[in-house]
Amino acid sequence: MKQKINIRLSIIALVAVVTTTIGITIVYYNLFQTQVKGDLRQNAFLLVESGAFDATAYKKIESEYKSYNYRTDSLRITWIDSDGTVLFDNDTDASHLSNHLQRPEIQQALKDGEGYSQRHSDTMNMDTYYYALLLNDGTILRVSTMARTILSILFTTVPVIIFIVVIILLGCVVIGHLLTMQLMKPLEKMAENLDNPNFVEYKELEPFVNKIRSQHEDILAAAKSRQDFTANVSHELKTPITAISGYAEIIENRLYDQESEVHIAKQIRHNADRLLSIVNDIIKLSELDHFETACTFETVDLYTIAEECVFDLKALSEKKHITLTCNGDTTFVNGDKALIREMIENLVQNAIRYNNEYGEVNVSVSNKKGHSIIKVKDTGIGIPSDQLGRIFERFYRVDKSRSRETGGTGLGLAIVKHIVEIHSAKIDISSTIGEGTEILVSF
Ligand code: ADP
Repeated sequence: MKQKINIRLSIIALVAVVTTTIGITIVYYNLFQTQVKGDLRQNAFLLVESGAFDATAYKKIESEYKSYNYRTDSLRITWIDSDGTVLFDNDTDASHLSNHLQRPEIQQALKDGEGYSQRHSDTMNMDTYYYALLLNDGTILRVSTMARTILSILFTTVPVIIFIVVIILLGCVVIGHLLTMQLMKPLEKMAENLDNPNFVEYKELEPFVNKIRSQHEDILAAAKSRQDFTANVSHELKTPITAISGYAEIIENRLYDQESEVHIAKQIRHNADRLLSIVNDIIKLSELDHFETACTFETVDLYTIAEECVFDLKALSEKKHITLTCNGDTTFVNGDKALIREMIENLVQNAIRYNNEYGEVNVSVSNKKGHSIIKVKDTGIGIPSDQLGRIFERFYRVDKSRSRETGGTGLGLAIVKHIVEIHSAKIDISSTIGEGTEILVSF
């Protein structure tokens, strides 16, 4: 973070320094050019007013002009006749100079009375500025001066820029350090006070902190539920194991008579079956926890699956003389066939288990308002309304002994809830004590 802040601050400073320098140089250079042009023009007028550049006078005393010493370091003066012949030049012998008629500033002066032009010399890396003035007698007076180019001006600023940039970079490192310290301190405080919802140092970070806070709570809740689950599993497994161990001890010490032998064997088998059901349900639940990625979703007919489940559980229902029926129409849903089957089986098994002798269980499949619905309705013992919200919890049972007696593990509805969630379906339950229960799953 510190490094990032340092780098960003340095980049911003660098860009600011470079753009400012370039901008100032351009502005300064434009002013400088205007100044040079203005000076040239003024010089030309002064020279004209001096009366030295007069064609009639010149023709009379031509030789004298050769001895005129106008040489200056910065100003070159050239006097040109109307046909382009150079009459006088303070820098070079005029007779050595070629005809100047085609020079742009001369052309412009002939046309408009005065003319400017600017030429660049690569070898000297300088620009020459020319100003030509058409005089009354038809001759042209041209003054010129050399000045530095914009690039050479820019280059002279480079050492200064480097110096400023180094200072700024050092400043950035210090500021970056202070900034990160200032930024981090409240964040560290917030991390320390994650459990306190009223502790907010940065208002802008409130949504982020809330999210972390809720995730933190979720993690704690998940850890707690895992702990509870482990404790419950151990407790559930302990009962049948203790029973099996007890019966084994009886056999070991031959503390039984001939008649109880079958009873003991039955009890051992019953408890072993119970162990097996619990372990199977735990395996199923843990598989479901990782199932979302391994699900094979396809179009399946809810009614066909319901019919198959009803067929398989007919024997169980007949033991209690319960009438088990299935009705409805072909209703397609997108889901995992094995899971949907498991879900319906669990619901129908419960409807039989918690039913009275000669009771009824009806499974119906329908399609309402675009939703595929499966309903399992029984005429059983019902569930107290204050416990309706809890029966989907792992190992929660309304009547422990009845559940155990009938082979329940307390995990059936937890598995159903999981399957419903995987299919993004919705489960509704309504029940009346002594009248029966209706569970509705809509896809
Ligand atoms: P179990 O293996 O004990 O049946 P479940 O998770 O399937 O566990 O159900 C949890 C509890 O909900 C059951 O122990 C039972 O008390 C109650 N229950 C579930 N289905 C019904 C039903 N159809 N009628 C009455 N009680 C039910």
